[in-house]
Amino acid sequence: MAYENELAIAQKAVMAAAKLCETVRREMVPEAMEKKDKSPVTVADYGSQAIICKALSEAFPNDSVVGEEDAAELKLPEMSDRLQQVTQFVEGVIGTVKSENVTQWIDHGNGTTAKRFWTLDPIDGTKGFLRGDQYAIALALIEDGDLKVGILGCPALDLGYGNGLLFTAMRGQGTYMQPIGGGEAKQVQVVQPGDAERLRFVESVEASHGNQSEQEAVAKTVGITQESVRMDSQAKYGAVAAGEAALYLRLPSPKYPDYREKIWDHAAGAIVVEEAGGKVTDMYGKPLDFYTASKMNGNRGVVVSNGTIHHDVMSALKAS
Ligand code: AMP
Ligand code: MG
Repeated sequence: MAYENELAIAQKAVMAAAKLCETVRREMVPEAMEKKDKSPVTVADYGSQAIICKALSEAFPNDSVVGEEDAAELKLPEMSDRLQQVTQFVEGVIGTVKSENVTQWIDHGNGTTAKRFWTLDPIDGTKGFLRGDQYAIALALIEDGDLKVGILGCPALDLGYGNGLLFTAMRGQGTYMQPIGGGEAKQVQVVQPGDAERLRFVESVEASHGNQSEQEAVAKTVGITQESVRMDSQAKYGAVAAGEAALYLRLPSPKYPDYREKIWDHAAGAIVVEEAGGKVTDMYGKPLDFYTASKMNGNRGVVVSNGTIHHDVMSALKAS
């Protein structure tokens, strides 16, 4: 099958990165450094990006990687202790490495969108990671503007299947879920029409990443009576793909009207939900643009559903 090799290599890399992230959470109280945009970054974000970019650069040297992190700050002389820590955690998973290789691998993720490229969020939901809540390792392959492969590692997600889940999707081949440490994979499907119990909606924990009052109103309009389940990261896409929620709403925050969504925050999750039978668009029903740039400048908000309720959600949004 096309892309089988890509999926196998990406899956192995995400599993290794997940191991690093969980080790960091177990062995230290991860401190956050603040990036220029004020968002947090930890040794695990860097370590995860290093491991995944190493694997991709070796297997697919011609593919660029659009990743969230870069090593510029980590390379500053005053950050040498931090770089040492990152290197040690990487070594814990893949064996002896040099610090300069670690920064090179991280910077391999500074690529741009292309005819064929990968997009990576080494830790999506860093705030959840720091809080001890949900986070995800999200990697997707895009070719000719279309998502072809998506891997979503959710080390803290359970959904009643055991702790730590990995979702994988290949275009046209369905979505599978398995224990993140390895184990049997089973195909998953979105919530089926008429399943009132699972007619739930998910949204961010961080109120400033959306518009929670409008999200609640829209959910009510489409007949969702249960309170939202709040979850960090693309684990929300996992919940929709596995049929544990019918809707994920991410409407623009009134506090940040100029915010544009980033491709690495949605690419892996989107193919995982689509291949499970769901639908992903922006709040106007437009397909998400994973191709033009790392920021989705032509899209506003994100709506993820089981498909059957998508049209009603769009109508509710139009009316509000
Ligand atoms: P979540 O855990 O779903 O809230 O998603 C976390 C992601 O939200 C981070 O990776 C950020 O890239 C992204 N983010 C940061 N600020 C905003 C914002 N104002 N609106 C939407 N997303 C944001
Ligand atoms: Mg993110």
